[in-house]
Amino acid sequence: MKSLWNDDEARHYAGDLALRVYTSRLLGRDTTLVLHGGGNTSVKITEKNILGKDEDLLYVKGSGWDLETIEADGFSPVRLNHMLALAKLANLSDPQMVNEMVTHMTRASAPTPSVETILHATLPYKYVDHTHADAIVTLTNTEAGLNRVKKIYGQAVVIIPYIMPGFDLARLCAQEFTAQAHKDTLGMILMNHGIFSFGKTAQESYERMISLVTRAEQYLERKAAWSLPTPVTATISTSQRQDIAQLRRDISRVAGAPMIMCVDADQRSVDFARRADIATLSQQGPVTPDHVIRTKRLPMLGRDVDAYSAAYKDYFNAHAPLAKEPKTMLDAAPRVVLDAELGLCTVGRTAKDAAIAKDIYQHTIEIILRATALGGWQALPAKDIFDMEYWDLEQAKLRKGSKPPQFTGEIALVTGAASGIGKACVDALLERGAAVIGLDINPAITTLYKRQDFLGQVCDVTDETQLCAALENGARAFGGLDMLILNAGIFPASRRIEALSSTEWRKVMSINLDANMALLREAHPLLKCAPKGGRVVIIGSKNVPAPGPGAAAYSTSKAALNQLARVAALEWGKDNIRINSLHPNAVFDTALWSDDILQARAAHYGLSVEQYKRNNVLGVDVTSRDVAELAAEMCGPLFAKTTAAQVPVDGGNERVI
Ligand code: NAD
Repeated sequence: MKSLWNDDEARHYAGDLALRVYTSRLLGRDTTLVLHGGGNTSVKITEKNILGKDEDLLYVKGSGWDLETIEADGFSPVRLNHMLALAKLANLSDPQMVNEMVTHMTRASAPTPSVETILHATLPYKYVDHTHADAIVTLTNTEAGLNRVKKIYGQAVVIIPYIMPGFDLARLCAQEFTAQAHKDTLGMILMNHGIFSFGKTAQESYERMISLVTRAEQYLERKAAWSLPTPVTATISTSQRQDIAQLRRDISRVAGAPMIMCVDADQRSVDFARRADIATLSQQGPVTPDHVIRTKRLPMLGRDVDAYSAAYKDYFNAHAPLAKEPKTMLDAAPRVVLDAELGLCTVGRTAKDAAIAKDIYQHTIEIILRATALGGWQALPAKDIFDMEYWDLEQAKLRKGSKPPQFTGEIALVTGAASGIGKACVDALLERGAAVIGLDINPAITTLYKRQDFLGQVCDVTDETQLCAALENGARAFGGLDMLILNAGIFPASRRIEALSSTEWRKVMSINLDANMALLREAHPLLKCAPKGGRVVIIGSKNVPAPGPGAAAYSTSKAALNQLARVAALEWGKDNIRINSLHPNAVFDTALWSDDILQARAAHYGLSVEQYKRNNVLGVDVTSRDVAELAAEMCGPLFAKTTAAQVPVDGGNERVI
């Protein structure tokens, strides 16, 4: 493991807290040390308070911050002496502990301090760094883990047996530190959990972390348990979207809400899922209890969600009655699935949650393989994992839980998503919590948004092979399809029938009509699996009820599309899929309308551009956002009982009315 410390970079961070930010980010950059919000760091600083008196503060990582991107504001200033006094109490419940931490901060807007705050306070060093280094959890999750740690580190570290994070762990660490530490102590190893390092400066504490973890890595290397063999090339079917959507439907049913599922058929995951001993290796528990909230205790093997759910209920019923406080059972659906055909599937309420579970489990696979190579992987007993999964603090979060946006856990696909109405639909759906797949022939679609819940794909909708590939990729990214917005379309230059070439006619038909027929056909089996029922919105046109001269191809294509939607509504009602159409008119903030065209059309009617834009019954400007908001609402509960509707969004058009 390499130190990432860089003197030139470090010079930009002046002061104790700034350097704390710098080395925290260095730790965060290495995913073999910390993953997604894992790990925490602190620095002790004396500051003058508002009365001019010196006050000793512990700046400790606040919850909700990732080390990789942390800022000074991500550290919560807690009164150090109060934390030290708390550490001497014989008992303190974890909710009481959090209350004490939050009520003894000196900045009201600071985040809730880490649950390991008291532990950081008791370590008598200015800087303290804590990670869940892969190499350490590999070593400590083996039968002879304790002996190995003693052999590698000798007297250099204090060793703490596994105990759940929270007040009891802080107290035990304080006692053991006093008993075991000496002037050459460099760190502290918490069995089955992670490692602490400390120092007088940010650099010293960080470099000690790197050197301690390197020792563990070198030990594993010597035992041929660090570098993993290259996985054998696994063969995977390229058409799995149907299986994926069915599995996601079953998982969502057991979870009681639509879930996002990310499918990762990388070679190592598939190899792992296909191992003969997978049932032994994967059915022990997570590598650190910190992961249980994201991954559940055990992954599901194969696709029998009901059997998994029954086993999860047994696990809850076996442990919940022994707990001091009453426990509310979490949903019994898996968050990680290992399937010989699909590989690694990870599940979350949002795309971000599913991606975090994926990162965690990919590391878990490596750690299990290494611990196995070392002589035998051995996770913590189920009871310890249960205590963490059903920790009072986690249960309190559940009770506080706010209502998520309406499309949370659902997946939408929008065609023609790089511009105009399509792009506005992407925005409206993302705002409502959906994960969105955007297709467009314009390569700008791939960089439209860089966020986990958006997948932009270049796709010419008239090419069925590309359409199928896009659906397959979408299913792998998010798990299926719930909402489909058929929007891509072109509006060719005005042409009377006598001048309309067959080539032009066919081009308009192929994009505005044929492509939509193919996409509906291919999407149907996925929409059928939508946990809340499938929804399709067609972006039609005012030209359906009121065609215009010079627009034969366009008006005909949209009218035929409208008829296709009506037939689909008739055929798919029994599959719980509803199809509704919007008929926009004169939506000027799109690429269909250039300034030149707008000026020419306005002049044609003897109007100014502004008058022309509002040339409708209500005298209003109709924007792509107006159309998109209605399209998104058509997918929501307002339209739950409506199918085959055609709704104008045109400010009122006399010919239509
Ligand atoms: P736009 O040109 O801004 O957006 C259309 C998008 O579709 C573009 O990003 C384009 O690259 C994409 N596209 C075109 N051909 C494609 C293909 N073969 N494969 C994939 N993507 C392709 O136009 P807009 O106004 O936002 O149009 C969206 C829809 O709204 C169209 O169906 C249009 O007929 C309809 N509509 C628009 C208006 C209006 O006044 N703007 C009025 C009524 C209906």
